[in-house]
Amino acid sequence: MAVESNAHLVVAGGGLAAVRVCEEVRRRGFAGPVTLVSDERTAPYDRPPLSKAVLTGGDPVAVPFDADALAVDTRLGDAAVGLDADRRTLRTTGTEIEFDALVIATGARPVRVPGSGHQLTLRTLDDARVLRTRLAAGVRVVLIGASWIGAEVATAALARGAHVTCVEAGTSPCAQALGDEAARRLLMPWWTHVDLRLGAMVREVVHGNVVLSDGTEIPADVVVTGIGARPNVEWLVGSGVQVHRGVVVDEHLRSSVPGVLAVGDVADRWSPRWRQRLCLGHWDEAATAPAVAAQVLLANDADPLPVHDPVPYFWSDQFGHRCQYAGHHGPDDRLIWREYDDDGPPAATWLGPGGATCRRARDRSWQGVRPRAARPPIGTGARARAARRRHRPISGHRPCHPGTGRQPDAPPPLTTP
Ligand SMILES: Cc1cc2nc3c(=O)[nH]c(=O)nc-3n(C[C@H](O)[C@H](O)[C@H](O)COP(=O)(O)OP(=O)(O)OC[C@H]3O[C@@H](n4cnc5c(N)ncnc54)[C@H](O)[C@@H]3O)c2cc1C
Repeated sequence: MAVESNAHLVVAGGGLAAVRVCEEVRRRGFAGPVTLVSDERTAPYDRPPLSKAVLTGGDPVAVPFDADALAVDTRLGDAAVGLDADRRTLRTTGTEIEFDALVIATGARPVRVPGSGHQLTLRTLDDARVLRTRLAAGVRVVLIGASWIGAEVATAALARGAHVTCVEAGTSPCAQALGDEAARRLLMPWWTHVDLRLGAMVREVVHGNVVLSDGTEIPADVVVTGIGARPNVEWLVGSGVQVHRGVVVDEHLRSSVPGVLAVGDVADRWSPRWRQRLCLGHWDEAATAPAVAAQVLLANDADPLPVHDPVPYFWSDQFGHRCQYAGHHGPDDRLIWREYDDDGPPAATWLGPGGATCRRARDRSWQGVRPRAARPPIGTGARARAARRRHRPISGHRPCHPGTGRQPDAPPPLTTP
């Protein structure tokens, strides 16, 4: 789609994905003006530490971004509020900005439950700072949702001596993502110090209480809701940009409006590998998609467009363990367990019609779980040859170009509270 060398690129959003888009276009030699518009007033920071180290007193982690060196006109505290695709104009709270190309990277925000009582959610640095001050010895914390965020908040709350109750509608923690059997075996054993109420629906949060659908009231000093996130797409209403769960994009990250792309948590992208659209809230996705978006923006019309379709990957640090998930399994995939000789925890693999679709493991090395699918081990030595023979890609799906960005950074080392 080759944007002209003096074209104006606008990036809406101020998180990891937005910053990486700016970096990647510059790295690829784009010299035109770039403007980044973020509704947050804070310089970009990384979100995974918010529910981990930051809650127990650690420092936030900035996303490295030298706006001056990259010559990015960075407008913090200015939200995108509308898009006029015909006039190629982004409307913000402060102004109107004309663009030639636009990358949408507005991320997602937490879902809340009904009720007039105070409930905290965890998405921003401010959220984490507020929650941190509330987690203290003897405080009654009620978590709504035994999700990844719920588990990490529970870990921090326990470390600070709080009493933790967790209300979960499903049959086990994270059962929605993993299915009941895998969730019970892999995650449930860690919840022993939490009063875990499974199969319980929350009706509302009122002052000092979480009220369940059967009328049970659970007293709470602090309520934290962690029941998922919704992409920030409302500002696109009436713009012509197609939205389903998030911004609908093809495997080249292009939306329904020419010259408008979407990356990260806000994107609902077509995956040729899994033959369905994926709307992933994973750090790895936000870290890797921008490289492909930049290439697509700058590609000459004659060039084949790169495809963004890596094997999805995420990790979570909870109760002193790290669990990791690589792939994307469906409800009909068969779950098998791999036991190890080292007395360590087992790993789960899901088998689809044509092979493994997904692997999940606790406390295994990052390389062992992260998709070996994308690239077999490289090198010419005996060890590399042996590794290639052992290589079992997550397969069963039409192989495709895995995207060509640089390797994402490894997640931070496991932190034990
Ligand atoms: C507490 C927490 C812990 C996490 N832990 C893990 C983990 O352990 N492992 C893992 O794989 N993933 C984890 N994630 C998910 C990961 O952090 C996200 O996938 C990633 O941050 C997505 O990056 P993004 O840039 O797409 O969106 P975001 O980080 O959400 O950035 C979007 C930015 O756009 C801004 N914005 C929103 N609307 C507008 C608008 N209209 N105009 C302008 N700006 C706007 C937002 O304020 C924000 O600054 C975690 C997320 C959270 C919240």
